[in-house]
Amino acid sequence: MKVLITGGAGFLGSHLAEAWLGRGEEVTVLDLASDAKVRHLRGRADFRMIRESVLNRDILEGLVAWADLVYHLAAVVGVEHYVGDPYQVLTVNINGTQEVLAAAFRHGRKVVFASTSEIYGRSAAVPFDEDGDRVLGSTRIDRWCYSTSKAAAEHLCFAFGRMGLPVVVLRYFNVYGPRLDQMDRGRVVTIFMGQLLRGEPLTVIGDGSQTRTFTYVDDAVRATVAAGLAPAAVGQAINVGSEEEVSIATLASTMVRLGGSTSPVIFVPQEAVYDRGYEDIPRRVPVVRRMREILGVQAEVPLEEGLSRTIEWFKRQSR
Ligand code: UDP
Repeated sequence: MKVLITGGAGFLGSHLAEAWLGRGEEVTVLDLASDAKVRHLRGRADFRMIRESVLNRDILEGLVAWADLVYHLAAVVGVEHYVGDPYQVLTVNINGTQEVLAAAFRHGRKVVFASTSEIYGRSAAVPFDEDGDRVLGSTRIDRWCYSTSKAAAEHLCFAFGRMGLPVVVLRYFNVYGPRLDQMDRGRVVTIFMGQLLRGEPLTVIGDGSQTRTFTYVDDAVRATVAAGLAPAAVGQAINVGSEEEVSIATLASTMVRLGGSTSPVIFVPQEAVYDRGYEDIPRRVPVVRRMREILGVQAEVPLEEGLSRTIEWFKRQSR
């Protein structure tokens, strides 16, 4: 099989590329980012990376024609972007998805689209069922532009689905693991990682009672591969996550303990970390019935195990 992964040089995409190569398939990655996360794959006959934007129509057309299966992961992600560059978030995430879907439609290729648990916003109907409501704040709060961009992209997926395109929407819940973001940047696990490896205080925003379910990347990748293969997944939105709910305060103290660090955990107001335009989500937990029943996958790596592996990996990188 020939697998195209847009955004394949990113965190999840690079692990997904490895998984498909491990299954003996050919992989092409289309990504604007540096090839740092897939450098170890370069030189293989069954792998190539094209450093281009998904908004480059000619390149995209050729690659979609080449592929048997298309994963669309290319997007602007990370809270610092939602609040720093909403224009890019909206343009790449909405227009990029439209371009990928249109090309796949012309060539009759199945698309698996990487959406997000941010879709549900700050809905109080926890755990989040795929058919549940979305609850978002004002458009004056930049944080919601990411959720909105992914929701518009999902609508495009389902609209193309109605026209006959086989499409699967996956909503990821805080995936983490080796190669996540650059240390000190991006998501909470990498921000805490930098702080704990330097022995500095871990900055928990607010009172730390907000919760997440962190999903180890290997579990997310198994679900993502299954979504490309399972006929029953077509036309569905499926949560990809773990049910192990943890508060951010507990995440911080657990990472300090597992990392053998002496860092204290401190509580800071959100303005200390993000500019205006940020609003936190109090609780985020998925319903995983579809993931289990349609994809045949359950999260298997417990949080402490996944965090230990991740801390080890970052420690090795920083040596
Ligand atoms: N967070 C924190 N300290 C930081 C960065 C993030 O306490 O230095 C919190 C953030 O407020 C949120 C959680 O960690 O409650 C997860 O944040 P992240 O940006 O990783 O992803 P989100 O789930 O909010 O999209």
